[in-house]
Amino acid sequence: MAIESLIPVIEKKEPKMNTLTIEQETNPWEAQAARFDFAAKKLNLDQGIWKVLRYPAREIIVHIPVGMDDGSVEVFTGYRVQHSIARGPAKGGIRYGPDVSLDEVRALASWMTWKCAVVNIPFGGAKGGVICDPKKMSQGELERMTRRYTAELIEFIGPEKDVPAPDMGTDEQTMAWIMDTYSMHMRQTVTAVVTGKPVNIGGSRGRREATGRGVSVVCDQALKHLGMSIEGCRVIVQGFGNVGSNSAKILADKGYTVIGIAEYDGGLYNANGIDVPALIAHRKAAGTIVGFAGAEAADKDELLTYECEILIPAATENVITSLNAAKLRCRILCEGANGPTTTVADDILEDKRIFVIPDILANAGGVTTSYFEWVQDRMGYFWTEAEVNQRLDSIMTESFSDVMAYAKSHSVNNRIAAYMLAIDRVAYTTKQRGMYA
Ligand code: NAD
Repeated sequence: MAIESLIPVIEKKEPKMNTLTIEQETNPWEAQAARFDFAAKKLNLDQGIWKVLRYPAREIIVHIPVGMDDGSVEVFTGYRVQHSIARGPAKGGIRYGPDVSLDEVRALASWMTWKCAVVNIPFGGAKGGVICDPKKMSQGELERMTRRYTAELIEFIGPEKDVPAPDMGTDEQTMAWIMDTYSMHMRQTVTAVVTGKPVNIGGSRGRREATGRGVSVVCDQALKHLGMSIEGCRVIVQGFGNVGSNSAKILADKGYTVIGIAEYDGGLYNANGIDVPALIAHRKAAGTIVGFAGAEAADKDELLTYECEILIPAATENVITSLNAAKLRCRILCEGANGPTTTVADDILEDKRIFVIPDILANAGGVTTSYFEWVQDRMGYFWTEAEVNQRLDSIMTESFSDVMAYAKSHSVNNRIAAYMLAIDRVAYTTKQRGMYA
């Protein structure tokens, strides 16, 4: 569709889209665009800026040849989408997975723009992905694929251009390979080209736990806002990877009771609270949460509908849809994952008066500490973990209160408030810089 013809279509579109098929409902790009359009309309956004911000500024597709361990050559398709650089260098993770698609990467890139603006850090938004199954590849194959992907993107990334980070299927080691490949091309060590690196090569203390810590801070703030207390506050977490396990661990440390954990291969339930460090040790040893002695087995999908005070989806997109939203029995939905809730489900949650802490606020602790990492790399001076955590806590607390203030003053739900706040900030900068059009 031509961009010029978008605005009339948007103006006709109803925010409630109950007529969508489940495939349309779960398209992450459509989900992002629907919220953007709704918030932009509420803001009465200038039509030109609307068109500029609705689409990514740049989409790069690469086909990467990789020498496999058996001597054959495989070609993988990778993406890097830069949605906006209005407020600073593009910033966003790289995802490896069999289901990666351009629409998903586009949506994730836009969410990064909004997320960085919600927490008011000087970055735009980007995201990358490679269609592959990292679980089926050797370390050598992953390293060669990562290095060639980096080489293909060499003129598009950099500390002042676009700064990748880990996401699903990538980790600190992947970031170390990217940093090294970029540095070889630049003929000097450039640590600030990626964040989420190992601490000894320019990573930030506290980065690994940062998203979970940020989740815990917004949960604290939500309880305060709603007049609830930590004591007796039951939490269920979906996904026990970086975000899920760190959220569960930090919340349990703070006195919350983690009663359920759902993973792709099974769930766990213990009404008296799961010993999270023991579960982390079990998962490390067994490679799965299944079979953990400190909880009973539970159906992974049913767990999302168990009664609890806080439900934290921290796995992947589209897990709360028109098919299960009505069954949720939580008071607070805190989105550790990106895009876990569809637009149709949003309307159902609003009718049920579930308090949603939207992804672009709830999981922004990761990119906030990535920002700290980038700052420390460029200064060449590294902070203590306590300093990092204290700065993170204060940004997350302030951002929560900014979103609440927007929700109140514009009479909108928390998600639309977060989008409005973010779009307003990006639009303001775009106007101030002026358009090279
Ligand atoms: P991860 O790969 O470390 O962990 C994801 C976990 O979810 C894995 O253990 C996986 O087995 C599990 N999982 C996958 N699909 C599932 C399903 N359908 N049901 C239950 N469990 C499932 O990834 P991560 O870094 O923790 O990221 C999780 C989510 O958080 C993603 O949406 C990501 O974009 C988002 N996020 C991550 C960060 C970060 O700093 N890592 C920051 C912001 C947002």
